[in-house]
Amino acid sequence: MSTEADLKEIIEELRQYYEFQKSMGVERVYAGKQEKEAGPPPAQRRQPKRTETKVTANKQTSENIITIEDKADLFDGSAKLMTLEEIREEIGDCTRCKLHEGRTKLVFGEGNPNASLVFVGEGPGKDEDLQGRPFVGRAGKLLTKIIEAMGLKREDVYICNVVKCRPPGNRTPEQDEMATCEQFLFKQIRSIDPEVIVCLGATASQSLLKTKNSLGSLRGKFHLYGNKKLMVTYHPAALLRNPNFKKPLWEDMQVVMKELGLKRPGD
Ligand code: SF4
Repeated sequence: MSTEADLKEIIEELRQYYEFQKSMGVERVYAGKQEKEAGPPPAQRRQPKRTETKVTANKQTSENIITIEDKADLFDGSAKLMTLEEIREEIGDCTRCKLHEGRTKLVFGEGNPNASLVFVGEGPGKDEDLQGRPFVGRAGKLLTKIIEAMGLKREDVYICNVVKCRPPGNRTPEQDEMATCEQFLFKQIRSIDPEVIVCLGATASQSLLKTKNSLGSLRGKFHLYGNKKLMVTYHPAALLRNPNFKKPLWEDMQVVMKELGLKRPGD
């Protein structure tokens, strides 16, 4: 790449980060002499586009190759491909694990059934449990801002959780609960067939990647989940507690945007 191209890329990354900070309510960010203008209206935002990138289960460049023996058929095409409606029907009024005892509403997931990008959180919180929708509380609103900062709308992507019922007092889901419920997430991902999965927070990441490695060591690069590229990043709730996580999260999202061929509005 030429020096000029390098410079352009650096300036563009700085501009995108500034816009991201602004969209998340940060009013003062040093951006040089000139204030940047906001992008065009939401109607002009791009849809996530499917890239030509193909990842095979055998590719050795990612750090984690997930071979979930008993679930491999969910990705290799031999399992029945179900629609999201069929998967929801299969879950039914689920009592397969003890989390059903305290739930108000089961939170299946929502969004574009053909999304190129899927966000996976840990489990529903209080607001989600009451409304039956994922990421609708404070952390959810922040996730929506992150999605918009990527140049997308919430309805362009698909959002769901590892467990579909709220753990009591928002505790971390237990291993047996995640293991029982995960089958539905596998089926959702197979049905949607996204290009990229973004795991929000350590619990979802460790659960999907079958690892005990820290979030800090997992984030920032792609892993493989079946044949899908998976990015690990911070949960929006962590950003509410510690704004210092905004920068690394945005760096992770830039890697995802590059993979999907996404550009911010106005680019
Ligand atoms: Fe069923 Fe999943 Fe809810 Fe457990 S968390 S009761 S497995 S839907």
